[in-house]
Amino acid sequence: MPSYEDLEARIINTGGCTVCGACITACPDSHIKLIEHRPKRPKRTVDCVSCHTCYDACYMLRHDLVKDIESNIMGWGRKESLGLYRRIVMARARNPEIMKGCQDGGIVTTSLLYALDSGVIDGALVVGRDNWAPVACIAKTRDEVIRASGTKYGVVPVLKELRAAVVDHGLSRICVVGSPCHIQSLRYLKYKGLPLASSVKLTVGLFCRENYEYDCIAEKIGAKGVDISQVDKLDVSHEFNMYAAGNKLSFPITEAKRCVPRHCLICQDFAAELADIAIGSGRSAEGWSTVIIRTEQGEKVFEGMMEEGLIQTKEIGDVVDAREIAGRKKEKAKQTEEVLRLKKRGLTKKEIADILGITEERVSHRLDGT
Ligand SMILES: Cc1cc2nc3c(=O)[nH]c(=O)nc-3n(C[C@H](O)[C@H](O)[C@H](O)COP(=O)(O)OP(=O)(O)OC[C@H]3O[C@@H](n4cnc5c(N)ncnc54)[C@H](O)[C@@H]3O)c2cc1C
Ligand code: SF4
Ligand code: SF4
Ligand code: SF4
Repeated sequence: MPSYEDLEARIINTGGCTVCGACITACPDSHIKLIEHRPKRPKRTVDCVSCHTCYDACYMLRHDLVKDIESNIMGWGRKESLGLYRRIVMARARNPEIMKGCQDGGIVTTSLLYALDSGVIDGALVVGRDNWAPVACIAKTRDEVIRASGTKYGVVPVLKELRAAVVDHGLSRICVVGSPCHIQSLRYLKYKGLPLASSVKLTVGLFCRENYEYDCIAEKIGAKGVDISQVDKLDVSHEFNMYAAGNKLSFPITEAKRCVPRHCLICQDFAAELADIAIGSGRSAEGWSTVIIRTEQGEKVFEGMMEEGLIQTKEIGDVVDAREIAGRKKEKAKQTEEVLRLKKRGLTKKEIADILGITEERVSHRLDGT
């Protein structure tokens, strides 16, 4: 019978773990902790005898099921590199308080506030920060939702808080906000019938090209002479941008490549394909969000925000840029998988590079993250 040891050997110790937090939340006895930013069980206990709940909770072991899950959830929609969807629009929040602290158009924060006020949810799993290090937390009030706005770069086990949200806080209508990997993992927990997951009633996904290990990116920012505690906002476009005291400082995104976790190199989902609503900056003008409404539940929340006059919307036209980014991400992930397969067969980096028609440097990046 598969056990925690198998999960550790196959996923956690191989760079396959996205640190979604599902195994941490699934363990009924809270034996798995976040240690050095990875899920670890410090010691085997009697509870682990004949138990495989943590192993069963890991979606990375059954990634082949994503397509089944997608058709179960979505039912219908337009299919392309951005996933199945009903419609795509550009939107931004009308509330200046939200616009002040949000990342792009404040649509994530506005969706949560609307869902809380209208009773669709009674709380949310969000990401706050300690300095700029991302921290998984539970938001039950307006203030807590607004305090979590803004993007923090770094892996963060969002789902780790699901057990506390249900068991300690008594929440039964939860929204999970997260990167595409968090949303995939949550959908998998629902698919597998983990009782805790049935309390999740809404998922809001963020677009994501790649993420960065926080310690690595903080070191890089420090090396640029910037005190990270003085930074007001971080964002990534074709450059890594830092805003502090009204100034903007940037460095090329290629300089952050070594901070990209291994699991991001095999990730194929840019646009949170399994979320009820997926949100990013995409090609929208500054201060606006690109919003992909995928499910009936997503549509209900979006329509509700519009009816209450909480958001402004604009037609977006062709989202060719977002589609291209999503398509490139899928290609890159497939190429990484091919590199790993050839490496397993014992080929050298040069041989792999020659077979795939790419540089040795790129092969090294895919294999070693350098
Ligand atoms: C790692 C990462 C990479 C991204 N890459 C892209 C990209 O390539 N292209 C693109 O268009 N958009 C990307 N985004 C999304 C973008 O940065 C905004 O989050 C999105 O446009 C929503 O903006 P908003 O103003 O509506 O959000 P806000 O109203 O500001 O709310 C932001 C929400 O994000 C959540 N959050 C913050 N940090 C994290 C995190 N690390 N993990 C999970 N949830 C978090 C918070 O809980 C908060 O509720 C990325 C986001 C992350 C976290
Ligand atoms: S008790 Fe079960 S779920 Fe928890 S760590 Fe042990 S095997 Fe995993
Ligand atoms: S469930 Fe999530 S956190 Fe746990 S091993 Fe799998 S990917 Fe990592
Ligand atoms: S690239 Fe994929 S695995 Fe990495 S943070 Fe984004 S969604 Fe998660």
